[in-house]
Amino acid sequence: MTGSQPAIPPARPVIGEDEIEAAVRVLRSGMVVQGPEVAAFEREFSELVEGRHCVAVNSGTSALQLSLLALDFKPGDEVIVPSFSFAATANAVRLAGGVPVFADIEADTFNLDPDAVAAAITPRTVAIMPVHLYGHPAAMDRLMPLAEAHGLTVVEDAAQAHAAALNGTPVGAFGIAGCFSFYPTKNMHSLEGGMITTGDAEFARKLRLLRNQGMEKQYQNEIVGANMRMTDVAAAIGRVQLGKLGGWTERRRANAAYLDERLTGVAVPPVAPGAKHVYHQYTIRVSGDREAFRAALSERGVGSGSYYPTPIHRLKPYLNEDGTPGPWKLPETERATGEVLSLPIYPTLTTEDLDRIVEAVNAAAVAA
Ligand SMILES: *Cc1c(COP(=O)(O)O)cnc(C)c1O
Repeated sequence: MTGSQPAIPPARPVIGEDEIEAAVRVLRSGMVVQGPEVAAFEREFSELVEGRHCVAVNSGTSALQLSLLALDFKPGDEVIVPSFSFAATANAVRLAGGVPVFADIEADTFNLDPDAVAAAITPRTVAIMPVHLYGHPAAMDRLMPLAEAHGLTVVEDAAQAHAAALNGTPVGAFGIAGCFSFYPTKNMHSLEGGMITTGDAEFARKLRLLRNQGMEKQYQNEIVGANMRMTDVAAAIGRVQLGKLGGWTERRRANAAYLDERLTGVAVPPVAPGAKHVYHQYTIRVSGDREAFRAALSERGVGSGSYYPTPIHRLKPYLNEDGTPGPWKLPETERATGEVLSLPIYPTLTTEDLDRIVEAVNAAAVAA
């Protein structure tokens, strides 16, 4: 009778009474644009990143784009990024006037391979943009020294990794900038929203100018800027969610441990030594027919997703003019693209849900 039970969706964003009350409170106050709630959200978020400066913006993509704009690229400046990520990673480089250069990932963590990054450095490289994919921190212990040795800037795409850490240092506290997303399916949300974290006061000031038409004081424009402000409604919702993030993260980690122990016949997500994985996604590798595997899960009421079905370097805007891919050698990216499958892992899963996921995956693995 499993078919008659409601499906366990791949993600389940929380918009509860607390979030609704917070939004209504701000709406009734009449102060709805970037104001006291945004300032409070920035202050509170900084506790996640060792007290760094925080600049709230209207999306994770804006966070990346502003951070890169603040680097003032010259034509031809290259930024090394993974192709195994959401398109926003490379889009932000392009939007800021840079050239994305794709480097391969490690087989185990799905994150940028420092050796591949080293091999991709050219005289035009100005920055490295690691992504903490699925909530697992990238190999910052190797990437930061590499960047320093070559005089490169590091911008972290931490859109999926709120509260993840490596050897005790939180993501968003390594590079010149850490960029977080508060899109509804992320580990916490503000409907739409993003946050840039930085340890550099001058850089923070530049970000604040770029966020708001180049103005610190109204109508005294200092530089060319955009409007990427966060609303106070979004910030109020983000503050509620931030208050719950610690508990939710523990639930995600406990859910992952539960699955790790019980799944058979599939490769469960490895965790690098010293890494605190926050399981934005719980991603297994399926060898064989992944679509059949997904269909078997779906029949048992278990939703799943492949993130991402096409690596960025093979998306249309990143192809050569004749439609062929660039000169990239990305074997692990290609392999992962064909094998990854993310299972539900969010904090509101019940033990019953988890048992159903285990049963469905183990049955599908036997059939595969
Ligand atoms: C979600 C995401 C972004 C973009 O965040 P938005 O808030 O949706 O703009 C960027 N990079 C990665 C890796 C993401 O997962």
